[in-house]
Amino acid sequence: MKLLENKVALITGASRGIGEAIALKFAQQGANVAFTYLSSEERAKAQEEKLSALGVKAKAYKSDAGDYAAAEQLAADVMKEFGTIDICVNNAGISRDNLLLRMTPEQWDEVMQANLKSVYNLTKQVIKPMMKARSGSIINLSSVVGVKGNAGQGSYAASKAGIIGFTKSIAAELGSRNIRCNAIAPGFIETDMTHYLKDGGAEKWFSGIPLARFGKPEEIADVALFLACDMSSYVTGQVISACGGMSM
Ligand code: NAP
Repeated sequence: MKLLENKVALITGASRGIGEAIALKFAQQGANVAFTYLSSEERAKAQEEKLSALGVKAKAYKSDAGDYAAAEQLAADVMKEFGTIDICVNNAGISRDNLLLRMTPEQWDEVMQANLKSVYNLTKQVIKPMMKARSGSIINLSSVVGVKGNAGQGSYAASKAGIIGFTKSIAAELGSRNIRCNAIAPGFIETDMTHYLKDGGAEKWFSGIPLARFGKPEEIADVALFLACDMSSYVTGQVISACGGMSM
């Protein structure tokens, strides 16, 4: 028996990076997967085919996670196509790093909308079918930077810290309905988002990482799988750090 057999997972931003790895891991464990992207049309189509080839139902939706009306429409479309939503992974996110002196209001708003408002937007939608089913797992992608802060990442860190407060509040609000809500706080993971960190050699970052390397998207997908399946049935309101020890 696979860990997510017959479950329906909705994952935002699964055309690339961590979301892509989570979608693949979930499908390998038998989940039917609905996922979103914003601009990577070709990669999303390729991902849809890759997941379908595993024998599960998979569908890509172009949907801006920061747009409330789009989230409403997305949840309605997924309910129509898949019948339910058992697992929601709020993964879509961006960074617009800049020192505060140079950070424009537009940059601040863009990050808040894509990273934090997005989590409110979709969580508000998925709790409806989850409350009806009296079951659900919501997984939010925070960051080690949301726990510790980081120079030059004020907006990103604030959005990721906000996700932690939201996660704990939703866990408290909906625990009695058997809806769990947890966050993952990854460290530096090898994706497009962190590609620039390798300029001049990745090794310079390793002194701050006890495991002395960047993480792989699959290693975050393993944590997401744990939080999605019944192996974590008594875990809610938690922030699981998967950061090679960076947050110690
Ligand atoms: P990534 O490689 O840049 O991929 C981002 C994904 O999100 C893409 O699929 C992208 O879609 C999608 N996306 C971005 N904005 C969107 C929007 N407004 N609406 C819908 N989809 C949107 O990023 P990643 O490194 O995998 O990061 C995934 C999550 O983990 C983010 O929340 C990030 O903050 C968090 N995280 C990452 C790291 C890290 O080191 N990489 C560390 C801690 C936390 P398109 O392909 O269509 O653009």
